Amino acid sequence: MRPDILNPLFAETGTLEGVGPKLKKPLDKLGLTRVRDIAYHLPERFVTRRAIDNIDDGGEGEQIVVKLTIGEHRSSRNPRAPYRVLAQDAAGNVVALTYFGRASYTAKKQLPEGETRWVAGKLERFGDMLQIIHPDHVVEEGGETMQRLCEPVYRLSEGLTQPRVAGLVEQALARAPELPEWIEGTQRDKADWPAWRDALVLAHKSEHGAARDRLAYDELLANSLALMLVRADNRKRKGQPLRGDGSYRGKLDLPFPLTGAQTRSIAEIEGDMAQEAPMLRLLQGDVGAGKTVVALEAMLIAVEAGAQAALLAPTEILARQHYESLRRMAEPTGARVALLTGRDKGRAREATLMGLLDGSIDIVVGTHAIFQDKVAYRNLAMVVIDEQHRFGVGQRLMLASKGKRAPHVLAMTATPIPRTLTLAQYGELDVSKLDELPPGRQAIDTVVMGQEKLAALVDRLAAQMAEGRQAYWVCPMVREMDGPEDIAAAEARYAALKERFGDDVVMVHGQMPGEAKDTAMERFARGDAKLLVATTVIEVGVDVPNATLMVIEQAERFGLAQLHQLRGRVGRGSQKSFCVLLHGEALSETAQERLKLMRQTQDGFLLAEEDLRLRGGGELLGTRQSGDTPFTIATLDQITELLPKAYDDARLLMDRDGGLEGRRGEAARVLLYLFERDFGVKTLRGG
Ligand code: ADP
Ligand code: MG
Repeated sequence: MRPDILNPLFAETGTLEGVGPKLKKPLDKLGLTRVRDIAYHLPERFVTRRAIDNIDDGGEGEQIVVKLTIGEHRSSRNPRAPYRVLAQDAAGNVVALTYFGRASYTAKKQLPEGETRWVAGKLERFGDMLQIIHPDHVVEEGGETMQRLCEPVYRLSEGLTQPRVAGLVEQALARAPELPEWIEGTQRDKADWPAWRDALVLAHKSEHGAARDRLAYDELLANSLALMLVRADNRKRKGQPLRGDGSYRGKLDLPFPLTGAQTRSIAEIEGDMAQEAPMLRLLQGDVGAGKTVVALEAMLIAVEAGAQAALLAPTEILARQHYESLRRMAEPTGARVALLTGRDKGRAREATLMGLLDGSIDIVVGTHAIFQDKVAYRNLAMVVIDEQHRFGVGQRLMLASKGKRAPHVLAMTATPIPRTLTLAQYGELDVSKLDELPPGRQAIDTVVMGQEKLAALVDRLAAQMAEGRQAYWVCPMVREMDGPEDIAAAEARYAALKERFGDDVVMVHGQMPGEAKDTAMERFARGDAKLLVATTVIEVGVDVPNATLMVIEQAERFGLAQLHQLRGRVGRGSQKSFCVLLHGEALSETAQERLKLMRQTQDGFLLAEEDLRLRGGGELLGTRQSGDTPFTIATLDQITELLPKAYDDARLLMDRDGGLEGRRGEAARVLLYLFERDFGVKTLRGG
């Protein structure tokens, strides 16, 4: 049960003043559903503005505040043309305040002709005219103060504005209570960190390093503590010793011999599963190393022992693909494989649920839907989690509560996670490594070229397709998940390529209806379509060995680890494969370095470490710098620096201070709930 003190923070955003259905939508889109989320919606950066009297003193691109007299409003018949309001500074210089689309309504209201207004925004040049596009603030003199020259900039979604979000944050902070201190005293003193509530307020006000660090530390501590609690509980609980007799595995008819690394990993897994203590093992292997077969063998061990196994995939696409390939591979063994995702409804779903309950299904593949409350198993004893880094820690570890006894867990990752992150995600766990690629793989040639060579590239693509080869074309990523801009980019590229290649092209992006996605993927997987245009939804796991060309547009926007993942979609068969990284015009030094590295190496581990190093500088303050971590507050830098401390702190709390007892223990309990790592608390109570 959540401590009462946290209740105001866990109230829905709808309880904030001014949040109705219209505002709720864009907030939900950012994952801001409760007051807590808004309080923790930390600024991406801050703008510092300069107050000037004379527009000519402002530099181009500079953030300014200036007093203006409003002049003529100019609209155009063309609905796409912007709405412009001309205004003059004290010296008589003219600047245009420019509005696109519906924003013109605001302009009409806010800028009556002949009056003076303080206007804040970014000064830009348009032809020989100065302009400010969508000013951040327009206020009357004597109204709201314009003295705030340092302002937070928040991540927005469509329908939100900076002042709107700032207002909500203010309300959320006002509701935030003082919380008991969970950080160890000397640690806090040494780092000179503010108390929780103060830190939160400060972090919204300015670039306050200590405040940001404290908040990050909280998150890291909560996570470490939860992992320790779950792990301790896991050690206490009994699993089911599973010993296979080889009867299913013996009937497998693989078209290739296993690599040494695969054989070794399977043996390690087999050894763990035979124990009563539940397995918690990470199978780490670069893209294309052949993790799926290892998973299948592990699951068949469970089936041989008379139990059921489940494979959890991070996306619908991947779940379907795994299902297809596992079913095909398992066919000669007689093991019955089923698919269960959130999209399956009605009869088929009922039948699957029944099969899981009565044991007529041996192996189920699916998305997190397979662990919903309504899904009951006869005897689920083994769980494989694919591409785990996409899951929250909570989801992963709570699986443990599903069976009567704790299931054996095998987590697989293609992202070679640096040690700090492994610690962050799992605490201590056993690792098997697939450090050997299947034989016959050829190196992928990686080419870096400017966007202007696009036409030549398309010709080359046409030649490849004519030879029966397949290709991927990945469009830029703006956010971690597909945002509207990503989709626009993919759709435009798709339209252009379709003109040339017709039905040979299909497209997949995250916001397409599920069926359409499936159809496109299936056509591509079968080889009916030769070219797949996509956003990063195809990043993980997709396996079409006949695809030999990967084109990535605006590659400079991607992290190295992600580029490596994407590149790993090709080079899976025996044919020579290529990866083309297209980039825009002005490349930063870091970007150049990154792309060069991509050309030079195919070593995923090296790339992951370099990624961590190159991103280290923290271009943006608190944005999520990596989709690979289970954290929303802590940046990679902070993880690297603070996690070991947080881990030790958590250990101390567990060992010396008796877990969650005592005064600090109580505070730690509040912390766990605050970060929703409370499954840790639950396991503690259960034990
Ligand atoms: P990943 O580790 O990225 O999940 P997959 O399991 O998808 O890799 O395997 C990549 C490809 O390699 C698949 O087409 C698979 O059939 C093939 N493969 C797996 N193991 C071997 C092997 N020992 N020899 C040859 N090919 C293999
Ligand atoms: Mg895979």
